[in-house]
Amino acid sequence: MTRVNTVLGPVAVEELGFTSIHEHIGYGMPGSELDTKWWKTPEQRYEETIPKLRKFREYGGETFVDATDICNGRDLDYYKSISEKTGVHLIASTGFVGGDTALKFFADASVEYLADQFIHELTVGIGQSGAKAGIIKVGVSRGFKMLPLDMTIYRAAARASKATGAPILTHLAVDAQPAIDIFADEGLPLSRVLFGHVDDGVSQGKVDEQGILAGGGRLGFDTFGYDLELPDPPFWGRPRQERLDHFLRVLNEGHADQVLAAADANCSPLGWPGVKGHTINYLFEVLIPSLHEAGVDDAMIRTIFVDNVADFFTPPAS
Ligand SMILES: [Zn+2]
Repeated sequence: MTRVNTVLGPVAVEELGFTSIHEHIGYGMPGSELDTKWWKTPEQRYEETIPKLRKFREYGGETFVDATDICNGRDLDYYKSISEKTGVHLIASTGFVGGDTALKFFADASVEYLADQFIHELTVGIGQSGAKAGIIKVGVSRGFKMLPLDMTIYRAAARASKATGAPILTHLAVDAQPAIDIFADEGLPLSRVLFGHVDDGVSQGKVDEQGILAGGGRLGFDTFGYDLELPDPPFWGRPRQERLDHFLRVLNEGHADQVLAAADANCSPLGWPGVKGHTINYLFEVLIPSLHEAGVDDAMIRTIFVDNVADFFTPPAS
């Protein structure tokens, strides 16, 4: 039986249940812990976060994957108390959202050092918290092209994934070929990788979906809810119906087993105001009703949010 590290300890993959694969308890750029403009007390952060996760739990949500990385505001003791208070399984990440957010200490490190760091966080723990990461996050730096440091991090992630069985999720699916080449070179099956943000407004026309699918990779429709219909939409927003049609097209083409979905919401952003009106609960309040209206049945919804997640967290038999 495969067990996945949550911040409160290992959980059997069968028990993860309905999972949002890419979310944030709080995401900030390196240095945001010293922010004064948007500073919040711990009480304010709890107040912003707990009701959202309680509601997620009431709707039937069971597991929250926190895609917040090294240098971006992870706080494992805080995560543990949130999970205890809400009953939501919380899976933490190791890795970097992109080379351009790795502080110099890590940016100058070797592949071997970074792989050891990721493996330590997956098998021993993150800092002094005692909580272990359950997934590896990597990403493409700003500019839509993989930079040399991004590639170093991807290679380290591939080694950590092979050593521990933990899967990899990416920030951005653009410029996928160098990533696919690195994973092949390291002998990591592409089924261990979720190429994220294939659905965002700025990546359209830049993602080789067919190449990723043909190689056995997974597509992350994981920015649901960042709609241009929001009062103050972010630059990566997209018309709601256009994103939904894109998702339905991939499902109808027979790729339901290779997709995962999420909202990439920030429960309580760090060092920035965040996007008003967008929460993880978009999945239950807007997305699932829209899928039902479009003729997607509960079995398919279960495939996307439950079965595919369990499969993603299960390492291939070696
Ligand atoms: Zn994210």
